[in-house]
Amino acid sequence: MAGLTRRNLLAGCALSALYGIARPGYGDTAGSLPWRNWSGGIVANPKGRVAPASEAELMEFLASTTGPVRPVGSGHSFTPLVPTDGHLIVIDRLAGLQNHDPGALTATFGAGTRLGDMGPALANVGQGMLNLPDIDRQTLAGATATATHGTGIGFTCLSGFVTSLRLITPNGEAIDVSAEKNPDLFNAARVSLGALGVVTSMTVQNRNNYRLKAKSWAQPIEEVLESFDEQAAKHRHFEMFPLTHSDYALTLAIDETDEEINNPPPSEEEAAAFDLAMKGWALVAPRFRKPLVNGLAKMIGPTEAVDESYKILSNIRNNRFNEMEYSVPLENGAKCLREVLRTITEKEIDVVFPLEYRYVSRDDTWLSMSAGEEDHAAISIHRTSEEDYRPYFDLIEPIFWKYGGRPHWGKVHSLGAKELTRLYPHFKDFQELRRRLDPANRMLNEHLRKLFIA
Ligand SMILES: Cc1cc2nc3c(=O)[nH]c(=O)nc-3n(C[C@H](O)[C@H](O)[C@H](O)COP(=O)(O)OP(=O)(O)OC[C@H]3O[C@@H](n4cnc5c(N)ncnc54)[C@H](O)[C@@H]3O)c2cc1C
Repeated sequence: MAGLTRRNLLAGCALSALYGIARPGYGDTAGSLPWRNWSGGIVANPKGRVAPASEAELMEFLASTTGPVRPVGSGHSFTPLVPTDGHLIVIDRLAGLQNHDPGALTATFGAGTRLGDMGPALANVGQGMLNLPDIDRQTLAGATATATHGTGIGFTCLSGFVTSLRLITPNGEAIDVSAEKNPDLFNAARVSLGALGVVTSMTVQNRNNYRLKAKSWAQPIEEVLESFDEQAAKHRHFEMFPLTHSDYALTLAIDETDEEINNPPPSEEEAAAFDLAMKGWALVAPRFRKPLVNGLAKMIGPTEAVDESYKILSNIRNNRFNEMEYSVPLENGAKCLREVLRTITEKEIDVVFPLEYRYVSRDDTWLSMSAGEEDHAAISIHRTSEEDYRPYFDLIEPIFWKYGGRPHWGKVHSLGAKELTRLYPHFKDFQELRRRLDPANRMLNEHLRKLFIA
């Protein structure tokens, strides 16, 4: 089919009606608007929103009040991390490049900076981010709080790039946190789920500004899996999007280049081809879908794009969805993915959304999905936001557990403190530190209570 490519097949999720955050000034906005996350399924009715214009304002608010609070980024998490009936703390006004070190190639940003605003700001000072997730609408604080990651065996999650941060504790005190000044707090606060206080700024390790070339193509899943380790070692970034009810995956390899920029936006023809393909798949019952999807996959042409690194690493996703993602130790990755795909086929799950399979390097934070001594394979499943994701996700989640999976904090999962303690060697250390920093539990909501207490 002419014009069908990996890019338009996956093109999707837009900036959207965002996350329903009003932009009030500092202070109590009584009768505040309801809040919604990006996918729309998580709603809250906060007592008010506080949007401090400075760190001092935030400290004063926290020191002079006692009620429950939750920091919010851009609301792109699928789990109820943010809802509160107390105050939402919106840090959008604490955003932008604050300073940079040309020698160390580090830069300090306000914690509310969108990832998508960091690339251009860094390019202006000759720097580039080491890696980015699939989209760049998240805030720096929100993304790191859930250990958001991109792909690439040579790269940790974004939290691993943080070299220091400023944390305002629940009672309004400021702490400078780094490996030298506060090692335990540094390991905890880089992936904090917003449970330790409010982060106001972060310094991140970057590199010199650079350009990337992305190549994508369709290939049988088994062939990709057989050479996945080799490809992951060969390319700076390598990942695949297995198509459900088919033998094929869309594959993406990204490498550094100094070629001229050539990254045309998808044409209308491409978008129309995508729509047609998706509608066609959905009309056919899952058990009869394989020949159709295989046939379409064989027609997907290879694509190439060259651009500034930050423009290649992240995408725009227009179609709203919910997602579950677990990471399993690398050695279990292929087995786990095969069982997930087999289960979708055998149980005839009517899902058209491709899966995502990527490698993430180990890191030294306490609560990232790849924390510890092993590299991990991250596997994601999706459902459009109009559909009830529970039957599908409930069926697949135990498969992730079987292979030693850890959940992405920002994506749907059903685990609580008991299971999480077994999955993370430092979970109890985090709980203890949290108790010390927030003895009144003002940063906890129902979801965080389940994670850290119940
Ligand atoms: C379309 C889409 C694509 C995605 N792609 C990826 C991907 O490729 N890789 C990946 O790993 N994840 C991905 N995610 C998940 C997303 O990156 C995470 O859920 C991320 O946490 C969202 O950031 P946010 O700014 O929206 O934060 P929110 O969702 O608003 O908040 C997340 C957490 O951060 C805390 N927080 C926010 N600000 C602060 C602060 N100043 N101080 C302390 N805590 C704070 C909140 O309390 C909450 O616990 C994707 C999500 C969507 C919707």
